[in-house]
Amino acid sequence: MKHEMPQLPYAQQALEPYMSRETLEYHYGKHLQAYVDNLNKFIADTPFADASLDEIVKKAEGAIFNNGAQAWNHTFFFLTLSPAAQKQPSGKLAEAIDRDFGSFEQFKEQFSAAAAGLFGSGWAWLVADESGKLSIVQESNAGNPLRRGLTPLVTCDVWEHAYYIDYRNRRPEFIKNFWEITDWNIIEERYK
Ligand code: MN
Repeated sequence: MKHEMPQLPYAQQALEPYMSRETLEYHYGKHLQAYVDNLNKFIADTPFADASLDEIVKKAEGAIFNNGAQAWNHTFFFLTLSPAAQKQPSGKLAEAIDRDFGSFEQFKEQFSAAAAGLFGSGWAWLVADESGKLSIVQESNAGNPLRRGLTPLVTCDVWEHAYYIDYRNRRPEFIKNFWEITDWNIIEERYK
């Protein structure tokens, strides 16, 4: 089974000024493309050759896991962004955020601190457990909370390649602007 690049539902300059066309050209067009290409190369003639991407993320190790999880994580990340983002959660997700973090503002503060404070390369995640309880987790490198039985709702990529073109070393500024293009309509659909 050949894994394909996700199609972006927005133009590569559409997320400016928060995320530049050049960042999309490199981050989506070169980094994600390389993970997808490497995944297809590494799964050939292995038990994962016909596995779904979810199955690879949950069960693979080594290079197949690293490239498969990076393909999964980046697809999830890029498909949460929108030039017309709904910037606040509503409905059941908003209620759960208030219940588990105190308020949406407190959630954003805690998530942003987890993303900014993650040492090295990795991903900050909002996840739900089986009961619907929300929490924030940090994952290093290609880490993905599916491996721990948690349901990912939103993720922020804090590998340097995600922000260095636009923000240089200012990771907290990248995270602050990440909220400007993160679409809570999409996140709510995942929580349902
Ligand atoms: Mn990345």
